[in-house]
Amino acid sequence: MRKTIQPLLGIGMLMCLFFSCTSEKQEEVQLTSKNPLLQEWQGPYGGVPAFDKMQLKDLQGAIEEGMAMKLKEIDIIANNSDAPTFENTIIPMEKSGAALDRAFTYYGIWRSNVSSPELREIAKALAPKISDYSSKIKQNEKLFKRIKAVYEASQKEPLEDEAQRIVELIYTGFVMDGADLDAEKKKQYAAIDKKLSSLYNSFSNNVLADEENYVVYLKKDQLSGLPESFVKSAAKTAEEKGHAGEYAITNTRSSMEPFLMYSDERDLRKQVWTNYIKRGDNRDEHDNNKIIAEILQLRNERVALLGYDNYATWRLQNRMAKTPENAMDLMEKVWVASTARVKEEVADMQKVADQRGDKITIEPWDYRYYAEKVRKAKYDLDSDEVKQYLQLEKLREAMFFVAGELFNFQFRALEEGKVPVFHEDVRVWEVSDKTSGDVIGLWYLDPYARKGKRSGAWATTYRSFTSYEGKKIVLASNNSNFIKPAPGEVSLVSWSDAETFFHEFGHALHFLSANVKYPTSNSGVRDYTEFQSQLLERWLSTDKVINGFLTHQKTGEPMPKSLVKKIEAAASFNQGFNTTEYLASALMDMKYHTVDPTGIDPVKFEKETLTALGMPKEIVMRHRSTQFGHVFSGEGYAAAYYGYLWADVLTSDAAEVFANAPKGFYDKEVADKLVKYLFAPRNAIDPAKAYKLFRGRDARIEALMRDRGFPTK
Ligand SMILES: [Zn+2]
Repeated sequence: MRKTIQPLLGIGMLMCLFFSCTSEKQEEVQLTSKNPLLQEWQGPYGGVPAFDKMQLKDLQGAIEEGMAMKLKEIDIIANNSDAPTFENTIIPMEKSGAALDRAFTYYGIWRSNVSSPELREIAKALAPKISDYSSKIKQNEKLFKRIKAVYEASQKEPLEDEAQRIVELIYTGFVMDGADLDAEKKKQYAAIDKKLSSLYNSFSNNVLADEENYVVYLKKDQLSGLPESFVKSAAKTAEEKGHAGEYAITNTRSSMEPFLMYSDERDLRKQVWTNYIKRGDNRDEHDNNKIIAEILQLRNERVALLGYDNYATWRLQNRMAKTPENAMDLMEKVWVASTARVKEEVADMQKVADQRGDKITIEPWDYRYYAEKVRKAKYDLDSDEVKQYLQLEKLREAMFFVAGELFNFQFRALEEGKVPVFHEDVRVWEVSDKTSGDVIGLWYLDPYARKGKRSGAWATTYRSFTSYEGKKIVLASNNSNFIKPAPGEVSLVSWSDAETFFHEFGHALHFLSANVKYPTSNSGVRDYTEFQSQLLERWLSTDKVINGFLTHQKTGEPMPKSLVKKIEAAASFNQGFNTTEYLASALMDMKYHTVDPTGIDPVKFEKETLTALGMPKEIVMRHRSTQFGHVFSGEGYAAAYYGYLWADVLTSDAAEVFANAPKGFYDKEVADKLVKYLFAPRNAIDPAKAYKLFRGRDARIEALMRDRGFPTK
């Protein structure tokens, strides 16, 4: 999993600097609580989180008190009798909630890094309270009136650029959430939201039920083709489910994918595949079709209250794509190439099947199986051989080297105990500017898997950069789940894990290089925030990294060119399948949110839409409608699933600028532009504008097509 956790709402300290306290008197809410999780951070680097004082018993109280404090601060802003200005409304909003933000930092650590059953109980109790708290801010009419007044004044007489930008972001955010509606419509809006949240919950429970209820148990003579490690874990799962002596294929992606890839039993492949794609679509009590229809209807009603024709138009207004048409246009262009590639892939696989005398026509449950046969024949990569060149600590040094070349950063390990950490595995580095020596931030690394840590890899900040109250020292973190090596042993990782390590470091560099005044400028734009991190992955296979850091653990020799070439060639393998199954879901998401959903029957709609698109019969959507949790178990990716492709287009297009520069990926001129326009401004500049400043034009899709091995015409 690749995910960035952004702090909830603003970050700020209750300190008097610059604007607000000089000319106008601003009341402040004093921290009276003794709760350790709310206290100002002490120690070096402008204060650091007191991870050594974290006790679960303080958590719930800290969040509750923190929220109460923030609401008091918001009330003071809302009830100010002076005419609304940027200084007496927006600035104090940016500053508010400092104590709560500190509590949320600890809460984030508990949830992601050191979770426990007790923590999950607390989280359950806190969820509705946090949701109430945020609606109280969003629905504060007096507050919104002031924001609106500041916004309207700024439309006549613009503020300086960054102030203007955050006023627009804040105002748009409130309006999108219904703050500008009259009382009657506000009530309707809230009622719809309430219904939606219960439907989201039912949707995901239904998918979960179908994942748990459809397990295929195999006998010993049905294991042909399956890798030993897979068989072992299937046996263990069967035993846990009371089927000792059998092998359980559960109805989840992590079980389905390897089974379809390796099992020689075609009928069983069909059965496992069918169970998987039918999740939520079995016409029983866990069927999601009716729920989808209701969700779409309610979303449309809700945005209609705000004057929008459809949900997607409302959703995309503050995204880089801006309109559903722009997102659609991109997807349709790539779709033509990816479906054409599917035809070639199917022909390749059919040939393999025929040569083996398998007497079959490729069906959806055969795709992964024969693709694996083709892959082995075409690019036989020995993953163990690759691993010998990928030492975790060397990779970290490589990342520091890249950060030094592109960002002029220097990393220095802190001696143990200099700043508190939440687990003995966590190490901390000081990040400074190579030229000036100025300290920029700290980088916390929590590299290893352990019980209570969530899976995947992610990046986060404990404190982001802002300058409106004086320059803040950034506290950034990277978290992964590498296997902890035995003492004295070297940690070796796979190529894709190495890419992910670079990816997350890209997020950290995005935090560390921020040069913005206000907390709101650190907010993310969903179809843009993955771009910077994806781009950084490209430095893993640059010559300087390979020769200096991808060295064999025993011989110290750099990874051979031939091996690198093999890895790169394998990267565009099966892109017809991967791109098409993803795009089918992304296109469907956008279609659902641009049509009139009255009386929609999702199964029928899905079928008709795919037929109209010319969906290859050998592939199904990566997430069929009735199991598309990104879109229907919440709103996070609703009308937003296209975002992965959007960020990929930027990544490929930007990488080509480096590839074609005089000094390649280490070209100083391009690197300077990269930092200046695409990293440092975060959300202080409209991303589309920022990209144009870097590139001299909008991003084009040709580079992405080349990267995926598609024709560009
Ligand atoms: Zn990411």
